[in-house]
Amino acid sequence: MNSHTHFLLPLLCALILFQFNLISWPLAILAGIIGILIDVDHYVEHILHAKTNRFSLRATWNNSIKLHRFQQRSFIHDGIGVVLLTVLMGISLFFNWQVVIVAAIGYYSHILLDYLHLNKERFLKSKILTFYLRESYFEITLDIIIILGIIIVLII
Ligand SMILES: [Zn+2]
Repeated sequence: MNSHTHFLLPLLCALILFQFNLISWPLAILAGIIGILIDVDHYVEHILHAKTNRFSLRATWNNSIKLHRFQQRSFIHDGIGVVLLTVLMGISLFFNWQVVIVAAIGYYSHILLDYLHLNKERFLKSKILTFYLRESYFEITLDIIIILGIIIVLII
């Protein structure tokens, strides 16, 4: 999934908590930002494995979207990483439960979206300058539904 979807879904979930006065609106936005930041490991993996343009954000982006020269997801995207972060968040709950809930929303929504692939997805592909863009029709539909959800939650 693309970064904007990784922002929108946790934002929607956190805004629901905001409407119930469980968290503040800056924390709701933080949930969306955390949803995006989980993919920072793509950049780290790019630095570790790329043969050329090691520190290039453009090369990292294009490898992730189109080229797929090597796996950019680190351990935090599955298996032991999910277990470790779940234990860490569980322990951290005793210190600041609101920040942990926000981090959990950002993290688990990210993992869910990354594994939410349909077998025969069709993609909308384009290129802006030197950046490849690719978004499935499923993701576009999902984005529209989430945005409508955000509007409804904010109106209620
Ligand atoms: Zn990811």
